[in-house]
Amino acid sequence: MSVSIKSLNRSFVKSNQTVQALQDVNLHINKGEFITIIGPSGCGKSTLLKIIAGLDLHFGGSVKIGNADLKGPGIKQGFIFQEHRLFPWMTVEKNIAADLSLRDPEIRRKVDELIEIVRLTGFEQSYPRELSGGMAQRVAIARALLRNPEVLLLDEPFGALDAFTRTHLQDVLLDIWKNKGTTMILVTHDVDESIYLGKRVVIMSPRPGRVSNIIPIDLPFPRKKVNRSFQELRQKVLEEFEKADEFILVEGSGI
Ligand code: ADP
Ligand code: MG
Repeated sequence: MSVSIKSLNRSFVKSNQTVQALQDVNLHINKGEFITIIGPSGCGKSTLLKIIAGLDLHFGGSVKIGNADLKGPGIKQGFIFQEHRLFPWMTVEKNIAADLSLRDPEIRRKVDELIEIVRLTGFEQSYPRELSGGMAQRVAIARALLRNPEVLLLDEPFGALDAFTRTHLQDVLLDIWKNKGTTMILVTHDVDESIYLGKRVVIMSPRPGRVSNIIPIDLPFPRKKVNRSFQELRQKVLEEFEKADEFILVEGSGI
């Protein structure tokens, strides 16, 4: 499903001060596209994802999922947070099923299939405390996928993981994206990750939070991080990212 964002504004009032978290954000994400969003801390990335997820309806402007105006959280949008948010008292398979019953043969079949996809076979009965960070995040991915989301929103999902696990999970995501055609919107602060996954990299700048640039990544999948054109794009994204960061200094010095 496509996501269409027009003239999006969101501000917060905190102890009599107004923070413009998002200002005039315009972004059209095609059905089945993989978009990555990168930008310095505080530029409104999480706010943007929460709005697309339907978790925050106090915004100005318009957000459409497919052709429909956003009305609230729905089964169309799945959300994966930076920390896995699993239930500690539930096994892996129960965490994936959550409010759905494993006694339902269709759910059972899908949960088993997802456990295989995220490579957790043998850990169905384990508890979150017995899992590594990467494994727990794979459970969270399976839980989101069980609901067959048409749009998957990922807020710095691999930020806390080591480089090896991170690369593995990036490939898991690309597999799912290829096989299911899910529209993916992933927020990251890792430039390599943004280029490795995204068909377009959206760069945001803070205060007020807005889209400062969109860089298309015309590299075929699977991508190689050591490749020369990858490195050139890396340079380009870094330069734009730095511009977005400099903006804070310029603005900050004026106050
Ligand atoms: P990012 O995810 O890019 O780091 P956020 O979307 O979390 O940025 O925040 C953007 C800005 O909005 C920040 O200045 C933050 O302090 C502010 N903000 C976000 N959520 C709230 C909230 N619930 N109440 C007040 N201010 C908020
Ligand atoms: Mg955030």
